[in-house]
Amino acid sequence: MARTQSSTDPLFEGNGAKDPLSILKQIYGYSAFRGKQAAVVDRLVSGGDAVVLFPTGAGKSLCFQIPALCRDGVGIVVSPLIALMRDQVEALKQLGVRAAALNSSLSREEFAHVRRAIAAGDLDLLYVTPERVVTAGFRELIGNAKIALFAIDEAHCVSQWGHDFRPEYRELGQLAEQYPGVPRIALTATADPHTREDIIDKLALHSAEVFTTSFDRPNIAYEIVERDQPRQQLLRFLSRHKGSSGIVYCLSRAKVEDTAEWLNGQGVRALAYHAGMERSVRDANQDAFLKEEDLCLVATVAFGMGIDKPNVRYVAHLDLPGSVEAYYQETGRAGRDGLPSDVWMAYGMADVIQRGRMIDEGNSGDDIKRVERAKLNALLGICETPGCRRQAILAHFGEAHGGECGNCDTCLKPVETWDGTEAAIKALAAVYRTGERFGTGHLIDVLLGTVNEKTCRFGHVDMPVFGVGKDISSKTWQSVYRQLLAAGLVSVDHNAFGALKLEPEARAVFKREREVRFRKDRPTTGKASRNASPASASARSALEGADAELFEALRVARLAIAKELSVPPYVVFPDTTLVAFATERPTSRNALLGISGVGQSKLERYGDAFLTVIRAHHR
Ligand code: ADP
Ligand code: ZN
Repeated sequence: MARTQSSTDPLFEGNGAKDPLSILKQIYGYSAFRGKQAAVVDRLVSGGDAVVLFPTGAGKSLCFQIPALCRDGVGIVVSPLIALMRDQVEALKQLGVRAAALNSSLSREEFAHVRRAIAAGDLDLLYVTPERVVTAGFRELIGNAKIALFAIDEAHCVSQWGHDFRPEYRELGQLAEQYPGVPRIALTATADPHTREDIIDKLALHSAEVFTTSFDRPNIAYEIVERDQPRQQLLRFLSRHKGSSGIVYCLSRAKVEDTAEWLNGQGVRALAYHAGMERSVRDANQDAFLKEEDLCLVATVAFGMGIDKPNVRYVAHLDLPGSVEAYYQETGRAGRDGLPSDVWMAYGMADVIQRGRMIDEGNSGDDIKRVERAKLNALLGICETPGCRRQAILAHFGEAHGGECGNCDTCLKPVETWDGTEAAIKALAAVYRTGERFGTGHLIDVLLGTVNEKTCRFGHVDMPVFGVGKDISSKTWQSVYRQLLAAGLVSVDHNAFGALKLEPEARAVFKREREVRFRKDRPTTGKASRNASPASASARSALEGADAELFEALRVARLAIAKELSVPPYVVFPDTTLVAFATERPTSRNALLGISGVGQSKLERYGDAFLTVIRAHHR
């Protein structure tokens, strides 16, 4: 028996029911399951396997935690990042759930303690790394104890198609044979069909029920701008987010460090994170990001997986990610708590060239390279779309959305388009006449009639196409080439240093059988671009006057408790719960229990501390 209804186990006092809904209410303090959570929980409780593909913030954790609490035995959670297990375990402990993490930093005594807890049936959830869970040592540790289920988190790591491939995930298929009859659940926020097939196949989940839901993240506002003066553009974006935390992604380690340093010089508190840093510093910076509320973390993609900080208010990209999937995963780290959040990216043609080269120089096979190129192009298409960004993104995941979401830059300020057929013909002619051997910089020189060493040496100054594009600015020609690329009319030849080549579809444009429309670039400096940006977002902005004051006081109280317990503030209560405290002003323990996020254990632990603050703030 995993659970005994003794006085040392306060979660099941009263009727002691182990049904999912009472657990949701008593332990988590939530009144109802969301979306398909209940269906997933039922599937696991009745012993079936499941594959769960929900976007970030949908509430995947409850899908395995609650069945683990309902079923006899310990639930084993396979999670890729040791550094984050501690916080997850701590959050569960605050809820009164008996959780532990198994990793190499445990002392001999701690290890023995976990072993005893498992044998005695005194553990609800055990977090363990993928490489450890398949070892004989782990089997021995489990001994004769009962296992409630296996949960494989971040399951997309099993797939080479995905963006976080981890070879050790391949071994997890063995769990099916090693522990027959134990239900397994794999969870990820990655939606693409290749990854899904790999999860089912490599993890031997053929008999699993697959649960999917809409991938829309309505609380996230999308904005993508052409890169002009990236640092100034970034600073303007960050100025809308004073007092909240977010992530700025850069491609290289050097850029991460430079950007963080520069931001500090500009008065933005920023820390760096990348895989080349000394481990202790990296971990300290991650920890600071989780625990503090006014910090900009500048990072490579090495940062982010498994981070479940709910109040990340913004994500900025200074470089183009490699695919729509990666972009969506990275931006998806904003707004897990459902409150309004902003994501922003600055990009240019140089990104496309660089990303393309990374694909070509990578060591994947030709098939995978082809897919990677297609994925990069799909992202470029989203960057260049004159339509709703959300619609374009969701369409990539095979999901229909009516568009005009009202919460992306193109919806808030529709882009103008212009008839670009003539310009397209000129741009394509420049590619063709110069032998498909040159990149955009030189092609634009040819179009503008710039006399320089290169245009002279290749004899381009004597060509009819030389100078035919003087009526259009260099910046607009750059935009034209990006859009020709996004439309598949030209491609980049990475073996020839980013030279543009014509694609077969370009013929129709030359023959005037195909009309071309281009989106007009927005001014990237000054007020205009700012007006086009989605409104600034924070939990506080939803509150006014006395409510905002109380919210601040509650935040101070929360921080004090969090510091004392040495946990991130959101482990005490998320912002959404504090907002409810500030607006509904519960003044009794019973009223407190009625607020979403307040369960029995948290009520006992620090209900009174918050009641004191609320009572002190009479309206
Ligand atoms: P995911 O892992 O899918 O990104 P999480 O499990 O971290 O999402 O959940 C996101 C947030 O939503 C968490 O703060 C969680 O406590 C909350 N949440 C999950 N399920 C519910 C529910 N049924 N009712 C209210 N809040 C919920
Ligand atoms: Zn939109």
